[in-house]
Amino acid sequence: MTSPHVNVTIDLSRVRQNAEEVAARVGVPVWATIKADAYGLGAGRVAAALAGVDGVAGFCVFALEEAEAVGLWELTGKPAIALGPPSTLDVGRWLAAHVRPAVSTVAQALALAGASPVLCVDTGMQRFACAAADVGAVMEAGGIDEAFTHATRVEHVRRLREATAGRTVRLHAAATGLLEEPEARLDAVRPGLALYRGAVRTSARLADVRRSAGAIGYGGWRSESGFHGVILAGYSHGLRLGPVMVNGQRQRITEIGMQSAYVTLDEGDRMGDEVVLLGEGLSEAEVAFAWEATPHQVVLVMAGMGERGYVG
Ligand SMILES: *Cc1c(COP(=O)(O)O)cnc(C)c1O
Repeated sequence: MTSPHVNVTIDLSRVRQNAEEVAARVGVPVWATIKADAYGLGAGRVAAALAGVDGVAGFCVFALEEAEAVGLWELTGKPAIALGPPSTLDVGRWLAAHVRPAVSTVAQALALAGASPVLCVDTGMQRFACAAADVGAVMEAGGIDEAFTHATRVEHVRRLREATAGRTVRLHAAATGLLEEPEARLDAVRPGLALYRGAVRTSARLADVRRSAGAIGYGGWRSESGFHGVILAGYSHGLRLGPVMVNGQRQRITEIGMQSAYVTLDEGDRMGDEVVLLGEGLSEAEVAFAWEATPHQVVLVMAGMGERGYVG
């Protein structure tokens, strides 16, 4: 759930700039991954912002319905691929939305041959993808000219090339984790996270500031500085223990309740001062380290913690 006390600002110019930088670096078309509501940033707003970027050839969603929900084709004039297993075999819907389904079985390929399906090859992920041995049969069934794999290591990229060797087929494999590997770039890349880094700023305000007196809160934590504060965001909003910024200083969330949390402070911090949960020198990677989570998860939670506003 969102907190009315949390501000979320999405910087669309940063998303555009990230896409331009990726496109310039990799030198092949970028298929911008906007699945899961663009990792919480808002798929419609993000897609509209990216539509005019030359290097962005199209978009990746997980399910056809995500593209339909925002009118992706009408909004951007660029095609999309649905990376997940097909949610429908209704060819007309795929064509109307200009979304190509990813198929991994002969049955799917036959049923969706009219929708220019893309082949999803299993190179190690071991989920909704075609075994190397079945590649030929699925390609022939669907008249397929494009194949991809969800690669996290260069060896996955090599397996994709081996599985499709000798066939005329466009290939892509790289998500954010492999953008720096020239061998992984193939004919296109599909970054998600790389587009969103630095684009989400999430903050709350100090709703209470105290000179600490002994054991504090549920667990009885103690403040080293002798001061502590409270923000009105808690675990119902996805908040977890980790670093924050208050008046340019690194502080910590020390204990979390359902809809509030304690934060360490210094003398001089005041009620109403801003507590930055993500952004301004606090990266997704740093928060992810503290959360023992992926940066993808941090972006998603932080973008969803309050009502989104947009700049750029
Ligand atoms: C989510 C996803 C991506 C993008 O991943 P990032 O790590 O966010 O860049 C690319 N390809 C597939 C198949 C995915 O599921």
